[in-house]
Amino acid sequence: MKIFAIVFASLFAFLAIVDSPSTPAASRTLITDVTIVSPENLDHIEKGNVLIEDGRIVSVERKAGTPKPVGATVVSGKGQFLIPGLIDSHVHLASVPGMSYEQADSKPGMIKEYFRQLPLSYLYYGYTAVVDLAVVDHKVLEHFREAPLHPDLYDCGESLPFANGYPMSFLPPTARFKFFPNFIYDPKQASSIPSEYKPEDHTPAMDVARVKASGGICVKSYFERGFAQDRNLPVIGPDVLADIRKSATQADLVLMMHANSFEAQKFAVAGNVDVIAHGMWNWGDLDGKTELPQEIKTLLDQIVEKKIGYQPTIQVMQGLRAYFDPEYLKIEAIPKVIPKEMLEWFNSPAGKWFKKELDDDETPDAAMLEMYERGPLRRVRQVVAYLASKDADFVFGTDTPSSPTYGNLPGSNGYLEMQQLQKAGLSLTQIFKAATISNARKFKIDSQLGTIEPGKIADLVLLEKSPLESLDAYDTIVTVWVHGKPVSRDSLAVNSNK
Ligand SMILES: [Zn+2]
Repeated sequence: MKIFAIVFASLFAFLAIVDSPSTPAASRTLITDVTIVSPENLDHIEKGNVLIEDGRIVSVERKAGTPKPVGATVVSGKGQFLIPGLIDSHVHLASVPGMSYEQADSKPGMIKEYFRQLPLSYLYYGYTAVVDLAVVDHKVLEHFREAPLHPDLYDCGESLPFANGYPMSFLPPTARFKFFPNFIYDPKQASSIPSEYKPEDHTPAMDVARVKASGGICVKSYFERGFAQDRNLPVIGPDVLADIRKSATQADLVLMMHANSFEAQKFAVAGNVDVIAHGMWNWGDLDGKTELPQEIKTLLDQIVEKKIGYQPTIQVMQGLRAYFDPEYLKIEAIPKVIPKEMLEWFNSPAGKWFKKELDDDETPDAAMLEMYERGPLRRVRQVVAYLASKDADFVFGTDTPSSPTYGNLPGSNGYLEMQQLQKAGLSLTQIFKAATISNARKFKIDSQLGTIEPGKIADLVLLEKSPLESLDAYDTIVTVWVHGKPVSRDSLAVNSNK
């Protein structure tokens, strides 16, 4: 008898231990009396209660007076708005804004602090999920995932540039293959590909298989002939794209294509990609046309018909423009999302090095602003306005940072991109859906994210204003729930004494 008693006693002790992490206080929360703004249900926006348990949404009641479950922590959302966590489906976590690799290497303390703050800055603006499009440093991603608080991180593994094409062309010939080991072999360039890389290891099928094996949810390739001093870069042909498409479909991966010109987007549409990863700011021979040309409209109609996801990433251009805008570094949000020391460096003469790269003949700032405004920004806005009028399948992505620019900072860049989308003609509803349900569906993560529905991860954002009434609602965040854990917005800012 004694033995049984001991066994039972220890069994109960074991159960008690197993049970203790889910004791009520920490794991059950009822958000009451809140206006529930969920993108699948915008016709019936009502006040109600949302119950969270163990990091998941358990129930959503669009009526008053749900009884409080035993042990639940009650959070009143009276007068406030609850939305699903936002998704940014185009980020580059390993790239440090405003710095070259050498500069970043020379300031390890500042960089360490930047990377510590990075996940918090996304959360500060309500981004609870991000997709890294081109993994170049697995350690940075691991570090991000290990941070005590961080957005969910998905990735496209290592990207598939064409041999010696964009963006591997930016690196010296000796370094570029090591940095982009998942490149696509081009038999025509055999003499300029190091012999240790075998053609049979660098087919689209092998490259896509490596992405799949690494846990990627998407595949990224490029069609970019280049700009500035790197023009006439080699690009993939339709046969290679067809092979990537076939392999991506078989592996159930989302196919994304870097394409920002009329030619590149035509190529992407003909090859049936899933997402075009930029707006069209380059119209080639049609650049000077002031009205949107009919041939471009025809292509945009196909993008709408085929339901190809479209990421305007207007902040790519705004990010370059920032070096000529004396107001940019004064934006109030900036000291909240990057370390103080880094902002001081951006404000110093050394921190403006990239400005010289953008403007090597010292064109006055006002003329540079005018050039962006009349050229690429005007063109991308016209394209986006047309797509918005046809209710295209926009997916929200910022491309943070798109180049070594300080004009694309984590978190705040999302808020700026939303402002650009609104300026270009998207409605508040289109912006809201692009950053929630449309991203979740396009990237096939909608069983977990994108709406406020039972069973989904409890990534939620509480706002003082409705995002369907004004865009600045996204800057009135009170609380962010990350897998059910509540975090006040203030505690996510730089130097918040957390
Ligand atoms: Zn990008």
